[in-house]
Amino acid sequence: MQQNSSYSSQLKQQLIVSDIKSKCCAAAELSAFLLMHGENNFKLKDKNLVRRINGLASKAKSIGFEKRVYFCKNKKTGICYGVEIYRGNSVCYNEEQSKFCCSNSFLRGCFLYSGYIASPDKPARAEIAFKNNLAAEICKKQLYQCGIPYNVTKRNDREVVYIKSINGVSDFLAHIGAVGAMLEFENRNIIKKGNSDANRMMNCDNANLDKSVAAAARQTALLSSFMKTATFETLPEQLKEIAILRVENESLSLKELGMLLVPVLSKSGVAHRLKKLEEMAGHINVNQ
Ligand SMILES: [Zn+2]
Repeated sequence: MQQNSSYSSQLKQQLIVSDIKSKCCAAAELSAFLLMHGENNFKLKDKNLVRRINGLASKAKSIGFEKRVYFCKNKKTGICYGVEIYRGNSVCYNEEQSKFCCSNSFLRGCFLYSGYIASPDKPARAEIAFKNNLAAEICKKQLYQCGIPYNVTKRNDREVVYIKSINGVSDFLAHIGAVGAMLEFENRNIIKKGNSDANRMMNCDNANLDKSVAAAARQTALLSSFMKTATFETLPEQLKEIAILRVENESLSLKELGMLLVPVLSKSGVAHRLKKLEEMAGHINVNQ
């Protein structure tokens, strides 16, 4: 990890305890760790990361991953533990066969291992430093497929893939499953830039009722068809949830929709999520 790691560390800790949804994704994330680490023995300072790797190996057991957890004693820090991963012959990350969900999991694994993200009050930047060429190639391909613009540089013999556009960083966060961070990132950037479009969305329902009714109808129509697509299934739960609520409750205002969520989400928070969904559905209309 590089410079000013506190925000990165917090974000990683959130991702480390996130759900491991399926064994295919567990195998992909674990493969990322193996490639990034360059060996199969993980004795890391970050206990939670060791736990994550252990959890991934448990989940991916039926597709050929084995593990051995071990304990060791350290005079300074007391007992620590590590995990050793073994792969069956047939298992290795195959990007041709991988599903979209797995590619995102692979990206998350690489980010957790050696990624960095600037805190939202700094200029936008997300990066991953690679020692391993194959891991770098898989990540670049995935970013390209997601339409996330990136650049490449060298630092200490490592290939550093970085993203510096606001939309790029926001999309990257969504793809690796850091939805909370994505929303926070977008909020701060919108406040910072005084983004008129988002402000219009935020003020929409008290500014003009007709307009908000029209917006709700537009969103409902757009989201109903978006919900039938395979892409929708791959979205983070927080986004799916608000899309379903919007479609099922066309007459509710943004504030009222936010009240249906646990925990309650502000009007602007709801507006941001819906805006994100509309962008993803590919039909954003800035004039409305
Ligand atoms: Zn998967």
